[in-house]
Amino acid sequence: MRPYPESASQQTRWIRALRGQPHPVDYEAGCSAISELEALGEARTVTTNVIFPVNSECPYTCVMCDLWKNTLPGATPPGAVKLQIAKALATLPTARWIKIYNAGSFFDTRAIPIDDYHQIATLLRSYERVIVESHPAFIGERVLKLRDYLCGSLEVAMGLETVHEPTLQKLNKRCTLSQFEQAARFLHSHNIDLRVFIIARPPFQTENQAVTWGQKSLEFANSLSARASILIPGRAGNGAMDELQRIGDFSPPHIKTVEHLLQYGLALAGSRVYVDTWSPSWRMNCECDNKRVIRIHAMNRLQAVVEPINCRYCNAGDLWCNDGP
Ligand code: SF4
Ligand SMILES: [Zn+2]
Repeated sequence: MRPYPESASQQTRWIRALRGQPHPVDYEAGCSAISELEALGEARTVTTNVIFPVNSECPYTCVMCDLWKNTLPGATPPGAVKLQIAKALATLPTARWIKIYNAGSFFDTRAIPIDDYHQIATLLRSYERVIVESHPAFIGERVLKLRDYLCGSLEVAMGLETVHEPTLQKLNKRCTLSQFEQAARFLHSHNIDLRVFIIARPPFQTENQAVTWGQKSLEFANSLSARASILIPGRAGNGAMDELQRIGDFSPPHIKTVEHLLQYGLALAGSRVYVDTWSPSWRMNCECDNKRVIRIHAMNRLQAVVEPINCRYCNAGDLWCNDGP
């Protein structure tokens, strides 16, 4: 395989050439869903249902994306997402909040037709807060339409990924920091809450850079009054990320990097900060690592910095164990 190209159109071709076959999906059969507790700090939690509807493929081709695996071959038929949400709700317990994390952007009209918003909002009328995901380019008047149909508050999650512009460009997200900021300010000016996704060690960054730019990304999210910042450990598994790992342009973060960024974000005392533990992909190499996993879960749950781990192998003050940069 050739090295990762510089131009956006070549990046798209490079990434797509490494994709496998998408999974066969049948939206009429329903979609996956889970129930979880989101920590609010000071031992408070909120019951939260999460539904993952399938839909048409996103028009973007981000290098780290694996959502294309569960997409339909053409545009999403009208009513298809509503049907999946209705079926999922029938299986889920009562909860106060709900996340609708479709396989793309909620506000991409090929993924979810605008005419479906009203019926979807009606299904969600008992929820105090509805959280959806979107690429910043889709943020605009249609967001206000959904907000106005909902009974509860609307929160929009957007992938900031990193504030390091050269890395952001290489992710092929086709979104600059200023475009992200503009979308965030639009949400803020219309009383819509913001949730920010940050990759804990994206591709094209060393472990040191991941720490530096992860910290700056958390600060940036705070400056935009994000309600929550989610640290997602970079992971392979979509073809492109596996190839980047093979050619030395990507490595999953060390667990100490993830732990450090969570601690840093919580100490800023701005937005709530969580590590996404749905698919942990961090590197571990020391006997203290399992204690660090427990510490990450504890900080997620308490939304507070907890007692650091002392280890006989990790030198005090060192951020990483033996295989650090
Ligand atoms: S915008 Fe989101 S869904 Fe679309 S390719 Fe990028 S990560 Fe995937
Ligand atoms: Zn150790």
